[in-house]
Amino acid sequence: VKDTLDFDKEVESICPFCGVGCQVSLKVKGDKVVYAEGINGPANEGRLCVKGRFGFDYINHPHRLTKPLIRKEGAEKGLNVDPANPLTHFREATWDEALDVAAKGLTRLRDDHGGEAVAGFGSAKCTNEEAYLFQKFIRQGFVHNNVDHCTRLCHASSVVALLENVGSGAVTATFNEIENADVAIVIGSNPIENHPVAATYFKQFTQRGGKLIVMDPRGVGMGRFAAHRLQFKPGADVSMLNAIMHVIAEEGLQDDAYIAEHTENWDAMREHLKAFTPEAMEEVCGIPADELRAAARTFANGKNGMIFWGMGVSQHVHGTDNSRCLIALALMTGNVGRPGTGLHPLRGQNNVQGASDAGLIPMFYPDYKSVKDEGVQALYRDVWGVDELNPNPGLTVVEIMDAVYDRKIKGMYILGENPAMSDPDVNHVREALRRMEFLVSQDIFVTETACYADVILPAAALAEKTGTTSNTNRQVQMCRPAVPPPGEAMEDWQITTELAKRMGMGWTYDHPSQIFAEMELVMPSLANISWDRLEKQNAVTYPSLSPEDPGQAVVFGDKFPRAGGRARFAPASIIPPAETPDEDFPMVLTTGRQLEHWHTGSMTRRATVLDAIEPEANCSMNPKTLRDMGVQPGDMVRLTTRRGTIDVMARADYAVAENMVFLPFAYVEAAANLLTNPALDPYGKIAEMKFCAVKVEVPTQI
Ligand code: SF4
Repeated sequence: VKDTLDFDKEVESICPFCGVGCQVSLKVKGDKVVYAEGINGPANEGRLCVKGRFGFDYINHPHRLTKPLIRKEGAEKGLNVDPANPLTHFREATWDEALDVAAKGLTRLRDDHGGEAVAGFGSAKCTNEEAYLFQKFIRQGFVHNNVDHCTRLCHASSVVALLENVGSGAVTATFNEIENADVAIVIGSNPIENHPVAATYFKQFTQRGGKLIVMDPRGVGMGRFAAHRLQFKPGADVSMLNAIMHVIAEEGLQDDAYIAEHTENWDAMREHLKAFTPEAMEEVCGIPADELRAAARTFANGKNGMIFWGMGVSQHVHGTDNSRCLIALALMTGNVGRPGTGLHPLRGQNNVQGASDAGLIPMFYPDYKSVKDEGVQALYRDVWGVDELNPNPGLTVVEIMDAVYDRKIKGMYILGENPAMSDPDVNHVREALRRMEFLVSQDIFVTETACYADVILPAAALAEKTGTTSNTNRQVQMCRPAVPPPGEAMEDWQITTELAKRMGMGWTYDHPSQIFAEMELVMPSLANISWDRLEKQNAVTYPSLSPEDPGQAVVFGDKFPRAGGRARFAPASIIPPAETPDEDFPMVLTTGRQLEHWHTGSMTRRATVLDAIEPEANCSMNPKTLRDMGVQPGDMVRLTTRRGTIDVMARADYAVAENMVFLPFAYVEAAANLLTNPALDPYGKIAEMKFCAVKVEVPTQI
């Protein structure tokens, strides 16, 4: 097809979807992208999945915002706005008018109620420079730290556990390092659908004889390639992992030399593990003791082992404990710091690593420097030229929405996030958005969240932007504009800069490279990674030890970035899910993504090919469960939890256990998060979106 295509130019950029961060060449005819193909980026080596290859045409969708919009006097807030015709509720405005209204609205709330009356959600779909500017906008303009983004719904608990016990929140090795491993665990992750290009490396690893251990309550596709397939009971991760570690310690398979040289708290860990015999845990986690023992021996006896995990680990009230167990398992077997070893939480959005690194989180400035640290505050006062910064950690995503609901936070600036779809218990979130006094939404479409906005600012998509993003591998990569933004839409950094100017913040940026240069002043992780270098090389992995070093694929071979240079064992005990099945709600609901759709669906459901493949909201259940209910695949079922009810088409899937329902969260007409539980992990403040109690009924039988 490519050879017959007629195009004017090719532009190298980055896929806008998952955290793999595939490099892509966009072929452009006129002002349209007509074709995409993978190029030789460090993470993808020419490969793309269906989203990267066919998902680009959302940028041409007629729903794209092309002019600023202002809510009409008296127009009702809510999902009754048609994204195809928002002018029923909004009127078009000039940029000058819309920016003035936005700046005045936010300033009025700050002046009347104090800076903490306004909060901000930035986006992991924007560039590093835009994430950095957004957290600066809130911290400088409102003198507090109530700024967060979707990492709170993603790997916040993993990052807490990694920072606590390893000293760094990023991966210790790229996923491509699996080439040098002989054993690997994939847990709570469905990479064939969620990180498809990474999954190709995992499959090749097994073809070379690598032993793969797949652990998941769903029988995910990666299981077909596994030497051990542990389909444990949902929410039972800690019991299963502790039992595996018990076997390793009991049989003396641990790496004593590594433990002695590189870790602390092993004695407490060893003592803690004694109670978790496989025989005691098999009923708890649903895996027979002999299978737990076999998997433990396979991992411990490997020469080089890696551990990969996803939202199945992190989105629990015990998400931080799950990650603590995985870190302990890697440490006790000496599997950090050498080629083919490492800890790798597979990041979800294309720039969730970079946005977190850039400080788009309420407890840290860029590079995870505590907001409480006076020396760090002094650095930012100096670089930003401000007199005052707030030393108190801010609220997180769910906490901010609760404060909006309680009318303590009265206004928000939401850039590229869609909490009316993405947050747990969205009935509560939508009511909070309705109660808000003033909302500025900046996006490429009238999202479900923008339906509640007072001002909507039209932004550019990634294929229309200049800037950098950082993928799950710690690779900082250059994105280039293939086409101009539609109509009057602008890049997010430009819009935030214009707002800041109107609020008297004195910003003068007129190119992302200037923002990147400021980031280099405060982010040691960017040492030796200049804008010019990225322009020439497209990607550099951090840390990079010299201007010639392509970056360190594996870190912490000599010491860990913690006091004393040692990593730490953190024993974890069993904490049950916050809401367990009972007579009224007898089954378990779990949520996730599908191969063709990404997150809240605002982009992929507007991509022609992806929407054609998966056009309809669906849930998956075990065929036996469906038979017992008298339901045929394709029939509608009604799912009800303590928070809401949806009707959705049922699919038969043997991968789903008999007491479970799997529900993708991309579909507004059957929004999964109407049902999910907002209970939080106490450390990462991430909600338990992977587990709640649900009742399944057949609407025609009610
Ligand atoms: Fe895009 Fe992820 Fe697919 Fe790569 S694997 S093409 S980054 S969605």
